This record gives sequence, structure tokens and C-alpha cells, in this order.
Amino acid sequence: MFQHAVPKRVRVLVLGGGIHGVGVLHDLVSRGWKDVHLIEKAGLANGTSSRSTKLIHGGLRYLKRISQFGMVSESLQERNFLLKAVPDIVYPVELILPIERGHLINSFMMRAGLSLYDFLSGKYGIHKHQTLSDDEARQKAPILATDKFSHFFSFWDAQTDDLALVRRIAFSAVELGAGVTEQCRVLSLKHDADGWLAEVENRDGQTNVISALYVVNCLGPWANDFLEASKIRPEVRGVKDKGSHLIIRDLGLKAGMFLEVPGDKRIMFVLPWQGVTLLGTTEESFESRPDEVRASDSEMDYLLMAANFYLKEPLTRKDIQATFAGVRWMVAEEGSDLSSTSRESALGEHVSNRGLLITVYGGKLTSYRLLAEKIGDRITHHFGQFQATGTKDLSAWAKKADSAIPGALERFLSTDC
Ligand SMILES: Cc1cc2nc3c(=O)[nH]c(=O)nc-3n(C[C@H](O)[C@H](O)[C@H](O)COP(=O)(O)OP(=O)(O)OC[C@H]3O[C@@H](n4cnc5c(N)ncnc54)[C@H](O)[C@@H]3O)c2cc1C
Repeated sequence: MFQHAVPKRVRVLVLGGGIHGVGVLHDLVSRGWKDVHLIEKAGLANGTSSRSTKLIHGGLRYLKRISQFGMVSESLQERNFLLKAVPDIVYPVELILPIERGHLINSFMMRAGLSLYDFLSGKYGIHKHQTLSDDEARQKAPILATDKFSHFFSFWDAQTDDLALVRRIAFSAVELGAGVTEQCRVLSLKHDADGWLAEVENRDGQTNVISALYVVNCLGPWANDFLEASKIRPEVRGVKDKGSHLIIRDLGLKAGMFLEVPGDKRIMFVLPWQGVTLLGTTEESFESRPDEVRASDSEMDYLLMAANFYLKEPLTRKDIQATFAGVRWMVAEEGSDLSSTSRESALGEHVSNRGLLITVYGGKLTSYRLLAEKIGDRITHHFGQFQATGTKDLSAWAKKADSAIPGALERFLSTDC
């Protein structure tokens, strides 16, 4: 656990230790800015950043909208970067996409989508997509009811342990001179002549005030509630979307499965991960406090029903070892339902007498580094001392494995999150 002393004054204060918080910290310190500090109310990756599907991907399903092609292409480049920067945490995974008999149009559309995905991957591709025979599909996914399907496509993305990734980025930032205090909650924020004043409470219940020229609000689904509690009007309207996963025993998968849910045609994944199988994800609008997010009974039944359509032997509630749920924090879009809301990110900005308060909306695990770079560029320009990010340089990354902390899987198996 990082327990650096809470500073009295700092140039940049980062709120929240998810992927975006640690990403911004790493970005700034890699530019040579040592005077940067992050506070996190629980442990790093306590929020959405340890509850994702754990894919480092362009997002094949986002190709339904032309406006998201740019985001997919950028994410594919970032996938390539992370495969090189942290190969022990981000590694390639093959995904099988079965097409039901009698659905020739689906087959045609999927082939077109996969060709576009290959094209956008360009030189950053892992392997091009291909068609598998029944035998090949059976060998890679022995549980798949292959008789129901006429075609099997295979394509490649990458997979990670999101908690380990967040911790590695934090380690990298700390090695370069940044400060991190876990179990330290920000209570309120206001501006003064020198920038911003954040009132924080440490794990012993002591409160302190941190004065910061720049504040970056990376509180994810807590971001706007926090601004409103501090009487700061949010610049961007966010929307919360809950997603749940089931952890099932190892189903012997050698590749993951990218599946269309029968009926509503949403995409779900069945993935081999750290010796178990992950089933996810659902999508439900979420209005409660993000700390209260849990997989509901109806979500468990929905995921089992959807997976069972594809499996030789049905799974039941007894097969569920644990569940976890997270809240996606997206930019609200008029007229879009949750699954079609863009995953593009946005930044809210408040200017004080001297510094800035920047709030992060949306984003993906995969493309966090680019978003952090955008924020680092904005802050160093505003300060009048632009320096380029150093995070593309592999020497800015810690090599050390973080073995003392339990991984995401251990955390989920010990308690439903
Ligand atoms: C179900 C689901 C599946 C996903 N799958 C993928 C995927 O496969 N690939 C991908 O690229 N992206 C995926 N995403 C998106 C990705 O997980 C998120 O975009 C990302 O994790 C958001 O990170 P964040 O840092 O913005 O927020 P969070 O990770 O939520 O971080 C916010 C942090 O702020 C802390 N905090 C809150 N209040 C306070 C306070 N008062 N004081 C101090 N700290 C506080 C919280 O404890 C938390 O750690 C998925 C998202 C969901 C919901």
C-alpha cells in the first residue's frame, strides 16, 4: 500500500486511483514534474478499473458507428504499445466468433467487420482474422455446441489483469518521484488565489488541506457527485452504466468467445482468465451510489441464459464461484441507449485565478495513456512550460512485479464485488 505523507502544497493533485488517475500521475512525472501527488479513498483500482472485462482491445463491436472508427484505431495502437511495455500483464488472446446456421447475412457482416478491424490494426495487428474448421473450433473451445453453427471466425485482441496494470503504472510513477496516498479521501474542493484547496481525510480520520495549482478529477463515476457536493457545477453531463461479470470454474477454453446474445443481440464474452472463466457483461442504467454496485440475480440469470445458448452443457447458478460489477462512466448522449453510447472520452475544465480543475469523463482502460497525455499537454501548456510525455519511452516503466498485493481474482473470490 502506498502511504506517502499528504503534502501541504503540490503543483498537481490527482483525485482517484483508477487507471485514469495513475495514468495522469505517470504522464506528468514522466515529463519531469516531480511535484505531483495522487490520493485514493480505498486501495488503487478500487472502482471500475478492477471490474472491467479485462480486454485491451480496439473494440470490434464499436465499429457499428463510423464516428467511433478513430477511437478504435487509436485503441489498437495503444494495445500494441501495452503489449510491448508490460508483456507480463498484457498478452494476446484469441477470440472465436461463431455464426448460427441459416444466418448468412451475419456471416457476411462479421467478415466485413473483421476485415475492417484488421485494416484499422494495420501494422499494429496481432494476427489477421481467419475462418476455423469445426474441429479447430472444438479444440479451442471444447464446450461450444459446434453443431449449431455454420461458420467460426477467429480474431485476436489482448487481455490483462486490470488491477495489476493500475498498480504497475502507479509503481512506475512512484519510481520517477510521484507521491501516492491510498486510504485518503477527498472531502471537498474550492478555489482560492493560488489555485485549489482540497480537504482530505486520511485513514486515521485526520483531515488536512492540500493546496494545488492544478487538480485532475479522476473519480470516475463519483466525479460529478463530488463536484456537486463541492458546489462546483459540472461542465459535462455523465451517465452511469452498470456492467456485471460471473466467475465460473475453468471451462477448458484455449480461446475466448465473442458472442451475440440471442434476442437483444448485445455482445458478451466468455473468456479464459487466470485459471477460471469470465462471463460478461450486462449493461444496465445505474442511479445508486457507485460503492453499492453488485451483480443482481436477474443479471446472473441473463448471462447464464445467453452463454447456455452456445454451450454443449448448460451452466447453472451452482457453477458461479463469484461475481463482480462495475460502473461505466460515460458522456451522456441524447437519444442513445447505453450499449450504443460512445466510449469516446471528454474533459471538463474549470479555471481558477491561476490553475485548472480538469475532470475526466468516459474513456477505456485500453486508451488511458492517450487521455493522460492529452491532460498532461493541457496542464504543461497552461503552466507555460510545455514538456512532452515520457510514457512512450519504456525506460519510464517499472519492471518490478507487485506480488505483495492480492490480484483481482483473489479479491473477487474472497468477496462478491
Ligand atoms: C463492466 C465494464 C467492463 C469494461 N471493460 C473494459 C475492457 O474490457 N477494456 C477497456 O479498455 N475498458 C473497459 N471498461 C472501461 C474501463 O474499465 C473504465 O473506463 C476505466 O476503468 C475507468 O477508470 P477511471 O480511473 O476513470 O475510474 P475508476 O476506476 O472508477 O476510478 C475512480 C477512483 O476514484 C476513487 N474515489 C472515489 N471517490 C473518492 C474520494 N472522495 N476520494 C478519493 N478517491 C475516491 C475510487 O475509489 C476509484 O478507485 C469497462 C467498464 C465496465 C464498467
